[in-house]
Amino acid sequence: MNPGQIKTVLIDGYLDEPSCLGVPPYVSPHIRYIYGSLIDGGIKRTNIEYLTADDYRREKEQNLASLAAKDLVVIMAGTTVPGNYLEGRPLSLTEIKEISEKITYPTLVLTGPITLVWKNLPNSKEISKNLDIITSEVGAVELYLRLCQQGKKKREIAADRLRAAYKFKAKQSDLSLEKLKNQSNVIASALSKWALTGAEIFSRHPKFPKLIAEIETCRGCPRIKGCKFCSEQLKNIKYQRKPESIIKEVRAIAEKNIHNFRLGCQTDLLSYTGELELQNTEMNGQNSLLNKNSTALEYLYKGIRAVDPELKVLHLDNINPGLLGRNKKLGEKSIEIISRYNTPGDVAAFGLESADPEVLKANNIDTSPQETFEAIKLINKIGGRREKGIPKLLPGLNFLVGLQGENSATYKLNLKYLEKIKNAGLLLRRINIRQVNTLGSYPGLEVKRSSLKELKKEVNEKINRPMLRKVFPQGTILDNIWPSKIKGGLTYGRPPGTYPILIGIPGQHLDKEIMEVQVIDHGYRSITGLPHPFAINKANIKELTYIPGIGESRARRIVLEKPQNQQELKEVLGPSFPWENLEPLNLDFSN
Ligand code: SF4
Repeated sequence: MNPGQIKTVLIDGYLDEPSCLGVPPYVSPHIRYIYGSLIDGGIKRTNIEYLTADDYRREKEQNLASLAAKDLVVIMAGTTVPGNYLEGRPLSLTEIKEISEKITYPTLVLTGPITLVWKNLPNSKEISKNLDIITSEVGAVELYLRLCQQGKKKREIAADRLRAAYKFKAKQSDLSLEKLKNQSNVIASALSKWALTGAEIFSRHPKFPKLIAEIETCRGCPRIKGCKFCSEQLKNIKYQRKPESIIKEVRAIAEKNIHNFRLGCQTDLLSYTGELELQNTEMNGQNSLLNKNSTALEYLYKGIRAVDPELKVLHLDNINPGLLGRNKKLGEKSIEIISRYNTPGDVAAFGLESADPEVLKANNIDTSPQETFEAIKLINKIGGRREKGIPKLLPGLNFLVGLQGENSATYKLNLKYLEKIKNAGLLLRRINIRQVNTLGSYPGLEVKRSSLKELKKEVNEKINRPMLRKVFPQGTILDNIWPSKIKGGLTYGRPPGTYPILIGIPGQHLDKEIMEVQVIDHGYRSITGLPHPFAINKANIKELTYIPGIGESRARRIVLEKPQNQQELKEVLGPSFPWENLEPLNLDFSN
């Protein structure tokens, strides 16, 4: 069939992997590349339907019937790291199985990170029988090449060169720089071209315009021999995207009215060079690639700012703390660049994974507790300055449990390490303790539930809450909050961005697109915020009781007496009320 006649559905099953996030509000670069490659391969825009996992599920039977009537169904999926999502549920293996069983006529393609670990998934062999194509690695390239073959005509991108590049697999023993450079550049430039067309996905997304564009800077682990548990090493194709291409992509997305960006699709932003540079990879015996200058990073950040004057969010993900801690001078320059051009509330997630040196050694992790501590200090020093009341850039810390080499002392070492950070007056925006994913071939250790529960409890009480109090002091006004869910008497919302704080807002506010809130209380991993300005005389009893120190009887008195100013409010609340809870707040006394 000529590509011009192919009726296609592109299912965005969402992805979450160590180097990339594509669960709403994030839109992954990979789904955009695929969309662009389908169009470049000759499929008409009007013949491509974009369906998210949530939309598929909402009207499943109807969607299955509609899928069955198409010619091509492409499913992109794969969460290779564990996660909790507020605004979207990734397509499950059971759902993929069901689709594969119920649709027979269309060519069914599976792509995305799920294909990297496919063989290890339960029933994958059986499901594979119903799949026509499983594209591992870069699915957009394979789809484009197949369409070119089918269309029997030359397309804009030299398909032959792309074919040669795609077939190339960079084996560890085969890391000749020239070879790798030539091959990967062809793929990277094709993806960058498709990324421009792929920007059209945003306006087709059901959550438009409340979306964040996840942007890819480079692909693959920069180390020759990576951490034992990480799925990134399963990627054979590695590339660096040119800063000019990324800037063009940002411009194309901004033209679609999306102004929230995260440079989140890479394993380490400080290893971004803008070109593949694999010489001098031996760093401290850890085989890491070090970006020896920050030129590409500065060019990139500056360029992004220039092409989107309406930019609202520019955040990042993933920085290797080992590189930063070992190369402070170079690191300082990069962190200065990032925190000059980024927007406040940015987080550099550090994968220390364990404070136990034996575990780090057993898993070939590229950092030490001391190097990570230095990196935390450095980010606090440069990124800790506040803009709009919140720090520009803070570190986050990831821990994994179930790693090889762990013993009963490991959890204690983790807690002690966090206490050391707190006692040094340093801030962490977020601490993530997760169980290692055994989806690949990594034989994780069994985790003792009670010990993990105890660790999480201690971290919550001793570290998380005090840190949140410092990062978001009472009275801080946070703008651009997206309300998304109601539970109990609270509306839950988040600011768009990297590792956004969860905010419980008293009352029902789903009718609002965005909100401004002021912080009144702190949980372990979330905060409570009142709408700003807070019309105290318009709030009901339940809403008022979320203010620390106001119980039901004080709330009743406020509702009855409707104080008209601070003095009257003080009298209503009585002398024993901890007034310091309300002092930092901006209150509106209108009736
Ligand atoms: S350094 Fe380790 S965690 Fe990071 S991408 Fe490489 S293997 Fe994965």
